[in-house]
Amino acid sequence: MKKFTIFGNPVSHSKSPQMHNAGFRAIGFDGEYSKTHLENGDDIKKIFLEGGFSGANITLPHKEYAYRYADILDPLAQKIGAVNTYINIDGKIKGYNTDALGFYKSIEEFKDVKSVLILGAGGTAKSIAVILKEKNFEVTILNRSENSKDFFINLGCEFYNFNSFSKEKRFDLIVNSTSAGLSDTEYPAPLEFLESLMKNAKYVIDCIYGKMTPFLLLAQEKNLVFKDGEDMLLYQGVVAFEYFTNTKIKEDTIESMRRGLKNS
Ligand code: NDP
Repeated sequence: MKKFTIFGNPVSHSKSPQMHNAGFRAIGFDGEYSKTHLENGDDIKKIFLEGGFSGANITLPHKEYAYRYADILDPLAQKIGAVNTYINIDGKIKGYNTDALGFYKSIEEFKDVKSVLILGAGGTAKSIAVILKEKNFEVTILNRSENSKDFFINLGCEFYNFNSFSKEKRFDLIVNSTSAGLSDTEYPAPLEFLESLMKNAKYVIDCIYGKMTPFLLLAQEKNLVFKDGEDMLLYQGVVAFEYFTNTKIKEDTIESMRRGLKNS
């Protein structure tokens, strides 16, 4: 039986095991996916290899450690600077970033999007900005601080903080990649910006999943098409699952994984 795990701290809340195990069962794959609490990110390579894992996912706060300790990097992971998936290739670790493609798949249903505003400039914003630039979208970042400004400018994005931003700008899609709304009732940007931006936007997505954040409630009030981050979570798992099992996933297996994700 092949062993897989998710490394995180905390990790007890993770739904990745139930999602991947449901997928393994659906295709009759002889694998088992567990959770591993990892205190120190510097130990990730040792624990992965000594644990005899064939693959793993990596969640907060270890994605940059996972990047550092991979032997080989997928080009997308290299560009983003963070890894959320490990594959064991004969004792060498290959690192991927499936958050980027997961996000991209989750917005496929949004048609006629050219310009995207990403709220936030953390790890998730980086993976989203990299994939959107690769797919030729116009990408603008709005963050409360100037953290990681150079990364986004070098990528070809526009970058603003709350002082330099003009609320008259127009975007087709607005993405919340901040953690505002996760365990508080904050908006990711000043309300007057969001009110104005949502007048002109077509779509809104929040990377936070499983709850109506203040940001999504505002989108609902403005009658915009919106969604939370559940599909992003599912599809990052789907892309990782294809690497884990070395198969091309079928639609009914994706639905099994979605049901696995929803089972609590
Ligand atoms: P990071 O800590 O790397 O980045 C957080 C970002 O949010 C930073 O830009 C930070 O600003 C900003 N921020 C935090 N609090 C506030 C606030 N109150 N108001 C405005 N901005 C704020 O986190 P990640 O990028 O890793 O994760 C971001 C979110 O994405 C989380 O909620 C996480 O749950 C979600 N996520 C969802 C996934 C999915 O599959 N659906 C996958 C990965 C993440 P500053 O730079 O100034 O500190």
